[in-house]
Amino acid sequence: MKSVKEAEKIILDSVQPIQEIETVNLENSCNRVLATTVSSKLDFPYWDNSAMDGYAIKYADLANYSDLEIIEEIPAGYQPQKTILSGQAARIFTGGMIPEGADTIVIQENTQKEGNKLKILSSPQPQQYVRKRGSFYQAGNPMLEAGITITPADLAVLATAQCDRLSVYRRPKVAIFSTGDELITPDATLQPGQIIDSNQSALAAIVAQNGGIPLPMGIVPDNKELLRKTIAKAIREADLVLSTGGVSVGEYDYVEEILAELGGKIQIRSVAVKPGKPLTVAKFSNNCLYFGIPGNPVSALVSCWRFVQPALKKLSGVAKGWQPEFISAIAAGEMKGNSKRESYLWGKINLVDGIYHFEVAGGSKSSGNLINLAQTNALAMIPLGVNNIAVGDRIMVMFVN
Ligand code: AMP
Ligand code: MG
Repeated sequence: MKSVKEAEKIILDSVQPIQEIETVNLENSCNRVLATTVSSKLDFPYWDNSAMDGYAIKYADLANYSDLEIIEEIPAGYQPQKTILSGQAARIFTGGMIPEGADTIVIQENTQKEGNKLKILSSPQPQQYVRKRGSFYQAGNPMLEAGITITPADLAVLATAQCDRLSVYRRPKVAIFSTGDELITPDATLQPGQIIDSNQSALAAIVAQNGGIPLPMGIVPDNKELLRKTIAKAIREADLVLSTGGVSVGEYDYVEEILAELGGKIQIRSVAVKPGKPLTVAKFSNNCLYFGIPGNPVSALVSCWRFVQPALKKLSGVAKGWQPEFISAIAAGEMKGNSKRESYLWGKINLVDGIYHFEVAGGSKSSGNLINLAQTNALAMIPLGVNNIAVGDRIMVMFVN
């Protein structure tokens, strides 16, 4: 049995990030992972421009003239036609291009205008309110590094830099299926003894949220031949495979056996984690990584959040930050840990007066309670060997979703 840390390391070491690159337009690039560092051909600002509404002047004129002659008006988007000579000024608006000869902006509040004569009531600093060309970014410098996930803010940066075609990594294909004779789809009529497959939709959503393309493959009964066929197809077609169920030690639990028969190198058989102990991980020669996840819906989600999500992030080409981030929170209720396994308790995290409080939904005893997973947004991690957490204790919590 591997510790959680060992399992995490084995999994991350087994993941070979996707190298294949595709080109997307700017408007389709949000949430994609940048494959090459982007630089722009443009300086930013593109040219010297005014940060305020006011007048473009020569700073040196302030000592020599009591008033200036206004020779041109420069709104944003207009190319100045005249050069400012000694004793002259141009009306200018925010974003307007600084005319030749001017070096300083005096804001309109500090001026008085009579006809085309301008009086300056309060002197600006030299070069005040001039945004110099290239002062924020110089053409050719790295703007966004390879391996970042493109955000809405990045879209603004890329648009302004005229980077409208982007090289991104191909999204990972993730095959997902559920195993078990007892399972039916959510739209089927429930017969006595049956269980509705709740894992598939949840796992597909986690995959999509993490930039993967879910390939749902349905429900596979506990039949060795059918299971072998499905697993073989999934390994051929996907970068990552997530199956749930069939990894315990019951008589119908065939997954590990089939993985080995198909040439998979079994890397993990079980993890000292609660819930989710019987996690099976195998690596195939085509680089496909297979996660045999326990079928219990709570275990399946915890395994997916704790172990699959980091693998998916690394696989997608994200350069760093694969592991979950834990924050410190205050326990809002009592919790029980486990003497042999690291425990993950699901619940809700709330910010109260600037401090995170974690409220547990399902105690460690109720991993069969699927309903109280609703609106789970965090998992509390109780280290192995810590048996009791009291109200007010500090605990480590990871956000999910
Ligand atoms: P297993 O890991 O196959 O032994 O399944 C453990 C428990 O989880 C059993 O009660 C299963 O019926 C249930 N289970 C397995 N797969 C799913 C699923 N896809 N959706 C909901 N429950 C499941
Ligand atoms: Mg089963």
